[in-house]
Amino acid sequence: MSIENAKGMLIKATKGKYAIGAFNITDITQMEGVVEAAVNKKAPLIIQTSVEPSKFLGRKVMVAVYRAIAESAPIPICLHLDHCTDVAYCKQCADVGYTNIMIDASKLPFEENVRMVKEVTDHCHTVGDISVEAELGTVSGVEDQIKVVEDEAQLANPEQSVEFIERTGIDLFAPAIGTAHGVYKTKDPKVDFERLGKIAQLVNGQGVRIPLVVHGGTGLPPHTVAKLIEVGGAKFNVSTELKRTLIDAKFNYISEHRDEYNPGKVDKVVKAAITQAVEQWIDVLGSAGKA
Ligand SMILES: [Zn+2]
Repeated sequence: MSIENAKGMLIKATKGKYAIGAFNITDITQMEGVVEAAVNKKAPLIIQTSVEPSKFLGRKVMVAVYRAIAESAPIPICLHLDHCTDVAYCKQCADVGYTNIMIDASKLPFEENVRMVKEVTDHCHTVGDISVEAELGTVSGVEDQIKVVEDEAQLANPEQSVEFIERTGIDLFAPAIGTAHGVYKTKDPKVDFERLGKIAQLVNGQGVRIPLVVHGGTGLPPHTVAKLIEVGGAKFNVSTELKRTLIDAKFNYISEHRDEYNPGKVDKVVKAAITQAVEQWIDVLGSAGKA
């Protein structure tokens, strides 16, 4: 029961009006910290890696560690590839055991986006029960090498969203609604709730088919998250916050223990900090006890 793709658990979340955290990890300590939080909270979990750490550790290593941890965990856990712009790498990750793939062709013209996403979806649905996420419009901000100038940000058109979903056959849909990658400059970022609500109505109004994904979770205030869940958001991506948590925890510990050379102690501190951050997110998303 532990190794699952994301679609089923997100359909349940959409119906139950809660959301599931998709937490980006860059190393094994972080993965362990994220899993510990979800186990403590009895919450379903999506672990994400962006392309860079997946290539650094190696996709096979990433999947092997995920499987080793997830198989013995008493909660359902997915392994998702986040924001991959390369069709070939999407397929390679699906082939070695990632349970979800995000093909991100959102910067390309609509027809090209459809063509690339459909190619990945067809592959993933052929090799196994692998769910596919894709984005329409542009989520602004910075994530890995994907840089989007703020002016260029375009939000997802609701009618075109329906066409995109139908023509690509995707399982999870990430419409650009004004959320951003990185750290928001204001405490109350402007988000287009109505747009997400309209898309949710068009796509899932007659029964939940395609769960909706909110990118740029870091820094969204709890009341904004609650409203996004209310109008149909089911998967919340949290990346920047965990990167900062890792670096800060490591830096602070080493600064205070400059003469100590015990990497295990540093890892323990990092893992505990990650676990704490993820537990807080699970509470905000309402997914505790839903595993
Ligand atoms: Zn994202």
